[in-house]
Amino acid sequence: MLFSNAVEKLACEPAYTRPISDLYPGPNQPPPPFTYSPLPDISLPTNTHPSYFSAVVDVGKIEGILTYNCFTPSSAGPVNFEGDDKVEDVRPDSDDSASALFLLPALFNHSCDGNTHWKCFGDVMVLRASRDVSEGTELLLSYFQDVAHEPRQKHLAKWFPECTCDLCLADRADGEVAISKRVSISNDFEEYMKTGPADRTTITNLKKYLKTAQNTYHPDRNVIRPELFRLHAALAQSCQRHGMVKDDLLQRFASLKSAGLDVIDQSITGPILQSSQIGLPISTSRLPMMLLSRSCCITMLNIASTFYHVLVDQVRAERWMRALWWGQ
Ligand SMILES: [Zn+2]
Repeated sequence: MLFSNAVEKLACEPAYTRPISDLYPGPNQPPPPFTYSPLPDISLPTNTHPSYFSAVVDVGKIEGILTYNCFTPSSAGPVNFEGDDKVEDVRPDSDDSASALFLLPALFNHSCDGNTHWKCFGDVMVLRASRDVSEGTELLLSYFQDVAHEPRQKHLAKWFPECTCDLCLADRADGEVAISKRVSISNDFEEYMKTGPADRTTITNLKKYLKTAQNTYHPDRNVIRPELFRLHAALAQSCQRHGMVKDDLLQRFASLKSAGLDVIDQSITGPILQSSQIGLPISTSRLPMMLLSRSCCITMLNIASTFYHVLVDQVRAERWMRALWWGQ
């Protein structure tokens, strides 16, 4: 559908030809020009007969451009609270996914943990800096979202042989054995979550999975350890079911940190630690990894709910709700 719409658009409205045909068309086509010209004035649609094509369109090139530049907008719809902390799937190669071409975002280079997040509201894409960005720093966004290292490399192979973003470099520095071990732990954990017992022994077993996974990360690597998010979240849920309020909250704090959020106020009782400038329990210096940002918001909602309903601490509940709104 996107392909036929794009061809029709180009055929009827030649003003779009240069902005689209100057995008990267894939390795089998001549490379695009080094510089990208400003967009022409395309605010006024050309009034042409729908059966009259006013331009010649290279459909092979357009197919390549769409293959390498289109986005799969993720839904901004309601959250499924049954699936607490579930990872949102925004894979662009899902057959039933919508896809769209956004001209300027298509020019961005990739980072698995980019300094720019993107979100679509209808046919409008909103880009948001995910951390403080100094002048002159390249803006990077994630072409493809996956928590684990291997599937990221597999899908990114379409664009380049090896991703060299900070997250991938940190993963590779941990070593092939550690990366494979994480895959194995993740598979075992998912299987266990389907079949494991729903009693207190779950906590013991989940702690074992978590400990083993934690040991695969070099202690000095960067703070993002995305494979730990699900483990911390599962452990938190298990603690919650058993009324272990403090452990529940500590695991949720840990899950936020594994996704890249800096939790500065981990207090559960006692005086409030006045942390960030705007009075949030988290640092506003960066958002979590994009794929986990929605799950982090659900986690913060759970934290706020626990403070409000279980610990009857309205002040902390409100602070975590405000953190959630900031992170949205
Ligand atoms: Zn990467």
